[in-house]
Parts: sequence; C-alpha cells; structure tokens
Amino acid sequence: MATANVTKVDYYEVLSVSRDASDQEIKTAYRKLAMKFHPDRNPNNPDAEERFKECGEAYSVLSDADKRAAYDRYGHAAFQGAAGGGNPFAGGFAGQDLGDIFGDLFGEMFNVGGGGGGRRASRVQRGRDLKYDLTIEFEEAVFGVEREIKIRRLEMCAECKGSGARQGKSAVTCTQCGGRGQQRFQQGFFSVARTCSVCGGTGTVIVDPCQTCRGETRVQVEHTILVKVPAGVEQDTRIRYQGEGEGGKFGGPAGDLYVVLTVKDHKFFEREGDDLHCVMPISFPQAALGTELEIETLEGTATLKVPEGTESGKEFKLRGKGVPHLNSHGKGDLIVEIRVKTPTKLSKAQKELLRQLGETMVVENTPTSRGGLFGKVKDIFS
Ligand SMILES: [Zn+2]
Ligand SMILES: [Zn+2]
Repeated sequence: MATANVTKVDYYEVLSVSRDASDQEIKTAYRKLAMKFHPDRNPNNPDAEERFKECGEAYSVLSDADKRAAYDRYGHAAFQGAAGGGNPFAGGFAGQDLGDIFGDLFGEMFNVGGGGGGRRASRVQRGRDLKYDLTIEFEEAVFGVEREIKIRRLEMCAECKGSGARQGKSAVTCTQCGGRGQQRFQQGFFSVARTCSVCGGTGTVIVDPCQTCRGETRVQVEHTILVKVPAGVEQDTRIRYQGEGEGGKFGGPAGDLYVVLTVKDHKFFEREGDDLHCVMPISFPQAALGTELEIETLEGTATLKVPEGTESGKEFKLRGKGVPHLNSHGKGDLIVEIRVKTPTKLSKAQKELLRQLGETMVVENTPTSRGGLFGKVKDIFS
C-alpha cells in the first residue's frame, strides 16, 4: 500500500491548524473534518473520500508526538519508506491501524472497521402524514359541521399485502451483499462500509414483483373521509385522523391525516375566543333617550335595551349568545359596542330643531383628561 504522493498537502493545512497547535486542538479539528467528510455521510463523493483519507493520515501523524516531531523536521519525506532516506520512521505509517483511531474518537458514531453485521436496514417504513386544508363558514365553526373530503393517498397494496412480491413468492437474499445490506470497500488503508446499492441496505430483493403495485408495495387510491368538525373550533384548528395518512412501505404502519381548518370571516361578527363582537350604530336621540334594539345573533334575534344617556363606545354583553366552548358546556357572550352617529346630512327643519335644542343644552368646552368625559366607558352590564 503506497502512501507516497508528490502533491501531498501539508498535514497542518489539511487539518486547518497552526504549526504550534495543541494536541487537543488537533483532535478537535480532525474530529470536525472527519465527520464532515466521512463516506457514510457523503455517498458517491470521491472528493469527500479523498479529503477524509487526507485528514486521517494527517491526524495519525500529528496526534503522535514522535511522528509529529519527525514530520516537523523532515516533512512528508519522514514517512516515504525507503525513498525517505533512512529516517527512523520510514515505512512505519502505512501499517497503522486507523480503525483504532476511529474507535477512540467516534465510538458508536460510525461503524468503521466493524464487521458490518447487524446494520441491516429495515424495508418497513411508516407512511407519511398527510395534510388537508378545509375551508368552512363562520357559522360552521361555531355550530360544528360534517364534511366529506376526498383524498388521494398511497395505500398498502391489497394484492401482495404490502410484500411487493407476486403471490406465492417472497423476497430473496441479495446476492450483491450476501444479505448483509452493506458492501465494504477498501480505500487506501480504510475499510469503509456502504449501503448496498442493489437491495438498498435491506439484504433482500424482490425478483418476481407483484403485478398490481409493480413491487412498490403501495398503490394510489382515492379515499373519502367524513370530517366531523366539532362546535366551537377556531381558525387553524387541526383535526387528526390516526392512520388515515399514507400507507407504510412494505406493510409498515400508515401515517396520520391532519385536517387543517380555515374559517371564513363573518359579515359583521368578529370572534375573540368564544366571545363575538359587533358594532351597533344609533342616533343621538336614541342614545340620549334610550331605545330597544333588535340584534341579530347567530341563533335568531335578541332584544338589546339601550338605557337613556348611553355614551358612544359603551359595550353591552348578551350572555350566552356567543360561541359554544369546545369540548365543554356553556357558551361565550355576544358583545355589542354602541356607536353614536353624528348626523351629517340635515334638513333645514332638523337644523332649526337642533339649534333650539342646543340653546337649552350646555356642555362645558374645557379640556379634561383622557378617560374622563369622552373616554370609552367600559363598565359592561347586560
Ligand atoms: Zn402489490
Ligand atoms: Zn444487497
């Protein structure tokens, strides 16, 4: 195994450390780079493989005090066998068991230099979760609704029951890897395990595939699901249907289906939790003298008594006229904000009446603090 290489890069540069780097710095730098370039993480990437090899070589020298000293003195020539000119370390490098270094550094992280047994990938995979966006009306969110939805999803093939093999046949041991699921490559002084490209690491292959799914173990099926939206759901509520997602590969468990709700706006109600809010305009005489109003709720009409002398901005609460609490008893409230409209289009007669009224009414035109005379009155009563 020749390691001589006329274009060898400086070991310190390979690890991106300074020439006076401590042992710990060298170890840290190597660990970082080896993880980055490890072939298990960079399949079919010869550049990464090359870098990985370089790093290992640099580390094996710089981590050993004697070899590092020799390298500092002689450079790469220190390890170039007979060509090195009789230095004490000639030829000593190639035989180094790098598996030991790896074992020390990475432990269980990479199975480098191991037997390759017991790492067989399972074919069986859980199906993906699916998401379905369902738009419902405002009232449907409040009272609940049932909707049929159609989804296309992969389901386990009924013909082969998810085995992928033609009936009566089964998967056979992969001849490429002998059923181990891995192939070993000798790369320089490294033995590197790779997932078998023929069986995908499962150790078996299907030679006589199911005709229905062509060995895919799943088929596309359109499926109808009845979505039961409970009363009181909110925007973006997710309803989970366990096992209604995509079927698993090779008979693996199905994923889940998530129905995500979009609730349309109401023409005047706004929702805050389980309370509903709306604004009701009234005239100045109604505000001054009091009035009874018919208010539209989500369940028929209700009567709202506006007492005399009601300020603009005052809120009235209609108890239990809001949204049902999700998964419990009771309902929220309907909150009506009164807005006194200032008249803008007045007839001559109306203006005259207001002028006469104005002469009898005096408001002191001096500033007050906010929250005073014109502040929003918040004491709510029903
Ligand atoms: Zn099939
Ligand atoms: Zn194989």
